[in-house]
Amino acid sequence: MEQEIQAGKARGYGMIERSLVIIKPDGVERCLVGEIIKRFENTGLKIVGMKMVWIDKKFAEQHYKAHKSKPFFRELVDFITEGPVVTFILEGVHAVDNVRRLVGTTSPHESPPGTIRGDFAHLSMAYASKIGSGGKNVIHASGSKKEADEEIKLWFKKDEIHSYTTVHEKHVF
Ligand code: UDP
Ligand code: MG
Repeated sequence: MEQEIQAGKARGYGMIERSLVIIKPDGVERCLVGEIIKRFENTGLKIVGMKMVWIDKKFAEQHYKAHKSKPFFRELVDFITEGPVVTFILEGVHAVDNVRRLVGTTSPHESPPGTIRGDFAHLSMAYASKIGSGGKNVIHASGSKKEADEEIKLWFKKDEIHSYTTVHEKHVF
């Protein structure tokens, strides 16, 4: 597997990356899984791992450890553990930035139409904080390459990540 990643990296001039996406409990409960996956697939980004999990608080605290000191940390942990999530790894050219571009900005009310957060939500983080809730913005995506590496390690075992060829690779990679 590692060899294949290295070979891919060599072929992609270091520009082929992986990013971790999580459809949060609000997205799953609103039956948006198919809609969301379709948007990534349409761009040719390649799914190399995928599963549905209901994480516990300890795991959530680990995933969001960078936010431990933030005032919204408890609410965020409660929100992300209130139901199952669908998580997947996307691979492609500049995958981290490209995935964030499709996801939009943190606060849906500032996220442009066409983005997942802009199209499927509208609340603001200020509103979420007033009602004492984690910001229900449908989806998580790694914020940097370093974050992506750490999150992929946390969420996926090596044998849950797959190497195969999509028909798109001829045209979009
Ligand atoms: N969040 C929140 N209140 C805030 C800021 C963030 O509840 O004031 C939640 C929101 O669900 C967000 C997550 O915490 O997606 C992680 O925050 P981050 O700043 O990393 O935003 P993201 O990378 O998800 O855009
Ligand atoms: Mg983040």
